[in-house]
Amino acid sequence: MKSLDQIAAGLQGYDPQAMACDDVHRFLQQLVTPVTQPVELPLLRTLGKVLASDVESPLDVPPHDNSAMDGYAFAGAQLAPKGTPLVLRVVGTALAGKAWSGTVATGECVKIMTGAIMPSGLDTVVPQELVTTSANSISIPVGVLAAGDNRRLRGEDLARGRAALQKGELLTPARLGLAASLGLKTLTVFRPLRVAYFSTGDEILSLGDAPREGAVFDSNRYTVFGLLTRLGCEVLDLGVVRDDPALLEAAFLDAADRADAIITSGGVSVGEADFTKVLMQQLGDVAFWRIAMRPGRPMAVGRIFKAKSAHDARNTSVSSYENNSKLKDPGDCGAIVFGLPGNPVAVMVTFLAFVRPALLQMMGAKATDQPLLQARSTETIRKKPGRTEYQRVWVSTAADGRLEVCSTGNQGSGVLRSMAEANGLLVLGHTQGNVAVGDTVNVMMFDGAI
Ligand code: AMP
Ligand code: MG
Repeated sequence: MKSLDQIAAGLQGYDPQAMACDDVHRFLQQLVTPVTQPVELPLLRTLGKVLASDVESPLDVPPHDNSAMDGYAFAGAQLAPKGTPLVLRVVGTALAGKAWSGTVATGECVKIMTGAIMPSGLDTVVPQELVTTSANSISIPVGVLAAGDNRRLRGEDLARGRAALQKGELLTPARLGLAASLGLKTLTVFRPLRVAYFSTGDEILSLGDAPREGAVFDSNRYTVFGLLTRLGCEVLDLGVVRDDPALLEAAFLDAADRADAIITSGGVSVGEADFTKVLMQQLGDVAFWRIAMRPGRPMAVGRIFKAKSAHDARNTSVSSYENNSKLKDPGDCGAIVFGLPGNPVAVMVTFLAFVRPALLQMMGAKATDQPLLQARSTETIRKKPGRTEYQRVWVSTAADGRLEVCSTGNQGSGVLRSMAEANGLLVLGHTQGNVAVGDTVNVMMFDGAI
């Protein structure tokens, strides 16, 4: 395991007092290690988890050639262009769920339902709305169909033995459905991450506390809870911790013992940091950064080493992880700490920008980046090159069908209202300057993340 100094030494121009967002990403990519323990879970409990091994298709999907439409099945070779409609006699009906076993001669067809097995020798289906029927026969107009149309081929979705799902893929609704279509009742996923979090500050009230002068209710534990839960992490709420070294030390040690990662908020700004810094350095390995971004400039990142006890993962069966307070990966020796700033919007922005991709990497997910949407700015925005700015916006479809963004108002780093009213964050990159009305800008959409 590399020390923070070793990671820093490998990064060109590393400067903790002026970290570009890209440097933060690069640092975190080297700092975190993915969990390795597999757990076999019933399919319905795997949504949002990460596959721990490749899944090969044990069967052909669909298992037979079948009809894609309600209509009539026949041998397509009879469609040879004759310039006259093709008239066929209906000799039976093929229903979904059972094979039709009669024989079909030239000049004949079988009425067929969607999903029904194609009777042998037939390769084409004419949808019922395209034909005219009379007595016991149908007539197919010229030019409406080609041989092979409306037939789904055996194995066209997934052929037996082919890779259907891959290790490191996040289980989405579509992937759950795909696994079910293969008849799989369980999947082997990486055990979920357990993430502990607490807020710091003498002025922070928990819900239910009596309001008092100078105090504010804790919102960070609620946004962090939501962000972590959406990511599929198991959460451990350790409450509010006063600005007191002994209490903070106890909270860090408790969290490191029970969780893979610890998220704190507050106490990392200049001044306060001196005190947290000494404490965290005693317990582990920590770097304090000033990041060239807005909001969210101060942030601490590191590891707490002195966990009270480490559970031995090697003796744990794959299905009993829930009974353990924490499973340690081999070689693991503590918890990763993300010390986020205190301001409520800065917490959310630093989480989305840095913590989310790092946690996805720890979860074993192979894709950790989130593609940005392009939209048109409806406003001029003043922006200094040399830092990354995140602005709370509402993205909507303009009259011309293109996406456009409007600010949701006051962009102060403590103003949660404009965050609550936003559906995305406008991301103005490090080198970007002012934005004019009509310029194309990048947006990180919240959907899926928060
Ligand atoms: P700090 O980084 O501790 O100096 O906090 C910066 C600002 O964020 C201060 O105005 C704090 O009162 C506020 N703040 C810190 N933690 C929280 C929290 N958990 N909920 C709401 N506001 C907070
Ligand atoms: Mg504070």
